[in-house]
Amino acid sequence: MVSSSMDGCHTMVTLVTGGAGFVGSHLVDHLIKKGERVIVVDNLSSGEIKFIQKWIDSGDVVFQQCDLKDLETLKCVMYDPLGGEPVDIVYHLAANPDIRLGTTITDTDLKEGTIATYNVLESMRLAGVKKIAFSSSSVVYGEAKKMPTPENYGPLFPISLYGASKLASEALITSWVGTFGLQAWIFRFANIVGARGTHGVIFDFIHKLHNNRNQLEVLGNGLQEKSYMEVEDCAMSMIHVVENTNEQINCFNLGTNDTCSVRRIAEIVLEECKCEDAEIQYTGGDRGWAGDVPKSMLDPGRLIELGFTPNFSSEEAVRHTARCLVQEIGQP
Ligand code: NAD
Repeated sequence: MVSSSMDGCHTMVTLVTGGAGFVGSHLVDHLIKKGERVIVVDNLSSGEIKFIQKWIDSGDVVFQQCDLKDLETLKCVMYDPLGGEPVDIVYHLAANPDIRLGTTITDTDLKEGTIATYNVLESMRLAGVKKIAFSSSSVVYGEAKKMPTPENYGPLFPISLYGASKLASEALITSWVGTFGLQAWIFRFANIVGARGTHGVIFDFIHKLHNNRNQLEVLGNGLQEKSYMEVEDCAMSMIHVVENTNEQINCFNLGTNDTCSVRRIAEIVLEECKCEDAEIQYTGGDRGWAGDVPKSMLDPGRLIELGFTPNFSSEEAVRHTARCLVQEIGQP
């Protein structure tokens, strides 16, 4: 039985891994606004059920608490709970989000990234699900010699264990395309920021100011410079690309066409926290931690050519996020 809406048209059924997370929950909001039915698979390790609770209550989301490392359970959730058909598409966003963790626990990204992606692909193959959209990252480019970095830049030499797992996941996905006829969208995200953020530089700065509003420690020399994309822009651009491209493999950078330095982020956060008098202390060195890429700037040209222009520039996204997070976490 194919699930149908009242007018008899097929209602898209979308499975989102990591759908209770920061980016995933915003994606779920937009998919539901488009009238899709959504299954969220998440182990709630860093995601929060409250981000999607209203959709669970309204019946628009079916929530499956499941760890992607558990292949046997994962195999059972690839079907529309109403009709029993395989879902139309999987947006695979679940992963360890903390790049720094790999410096101390070296098998996290292998298990939560590479093996988790294998399990998603294998479950899809067994169920007959044909489409996957994957949240990769700008870190697959490593310390790119070309900036802004386009999608066809190579060779790809990531410098973090997280980056290695993203590149390995991309390779697994393209091998499933080549071997089992899957269709794939690979999204290389810039730094994504916005409401409901649970990690990242802006979140860290606000928490540090909560502990001590007179002083802000900044990892590195503050000259690290990256592209930032607002999370709604990220969610909407993923959907836009999936709807408007149809190659077997569709690879897109998702980002803005500018950057913001860590020093500037610190200033903006101090302003938004009303802590302008705090002293900024830099720990020194050109990067925040081993494996941090000091400068990254994606070339978002393909996305813009496809008709999607982000609403926020990098700096606007940072300020907007600082405002949202101060509201969520409280003024330091
Ligand atoms: P997040 O931690 O908020 O979301 C990840 C979600 O996956 C969480 O809800 C978590 O509970 C879930 N999860 C983690 N491991 C799981 C497992 N083994 N089984 C089931 N669920 C699991 O992080 P996010 O920032 O929303 O990131 C979403 C995706 O985007 C990730 O793949 C991340 O690597 C990628 N990404 C994020 C950024 C960014 O700046 N936020 C940048 C590049 C790529």
